[in-house]
Amino acid sequence: MSAPVTVIDRNRGPAPRAFDRASAAPSDPALKARLAELQFATRGRDARGIIELAIKTEFAGRTAVVSSFGAESAVLLHMVAGVDPNTPILFLNTGKLFGETLRYRDRLQDELGLGDVRSLAPGLEEKLRLDPEGALWSTDPDACCNFRKVVPLKHALEGFAAQITGRKRFQTNARAEMQAVEYFEGRFRFNPLADWSLADLEAYVARHNLPQHPLVEDGYPSIGCMPCTRRIQSGEAYRAGRWSGLDKDECGIHGVDGEGI
Ligand code: SF4
Repeated sequence: MSAPVTVIDRNRGPAPRAFDRASAAPSDPALKARLAELQFATRGRDARGIIELAIKTEFAGRTAVVSSFGAESAVLLHMVAGVDPNTPILFLNTGKLFGETLRYRDRLQDELGLGDVRSLAPGLEEKLRLDPEGALWSTDPDACCNFRKVVPLKHALEGFAAQITGRKRFQTNARAEMQAVEYFEGRFRFNPLADWSLADLEAYVARHNLPQHPLVEDGYPSIGCMPCTRRIQSGEAYRAGRWSGLDKDECGIHGVDGEGI
């Protein structure tokens, strides 16, 4: 087994990240009322019903899914494909991903019939200017995440009024109170899997015979960029391998599919 790339604090464990911050209620009364209306509309709906509410009813043509095509992504993507396979799926190809992730993206895209997977990447000029050696992650990971993820995603999300995530309440304490619909940074955010357990996810994967990310069996239950993801050791939390090697708590992505990227 290879050693982690960098380990600054093995005891820190998974920490709340930007996308786990409590979503502040919108101050605009109209937005506040709209959020209450959407939260009411999700009551009694299952995960697929919440996805339909966003994609078909409330924000048709204005909803995007941001997916890392990581370990838990297949469940949400399978449901979204069942509602509308041409829903825009935003995928951050940071240039630092595992090759297995890129192949898994291609496999899921093909097997689920996803018709609008958009791979986002930083511009060549920015790469040459900000990270000519490709090692910025080791000296200034916040700057690395910013130009590789935050900026491309911000641009890609412009024009969308809603976003669907695969975040679950069981994943972290910070997510324990997560609502099925939130308002965050200028758009509504639907969390159809909020109340799903790990067992629910596994059962869904088995029931629908969904392919698993190839690195899961290799000791990576949560998968992001290669330099910033390590295998977990026995007894560690399943997300402990994410960013645990870096002195940093978040990537600045707000509301990815539940795993960060
Ligand atoms: S997760 Fe690591 S490699 Fe990926 S963009 Fe952030 S700092 Fe760079």
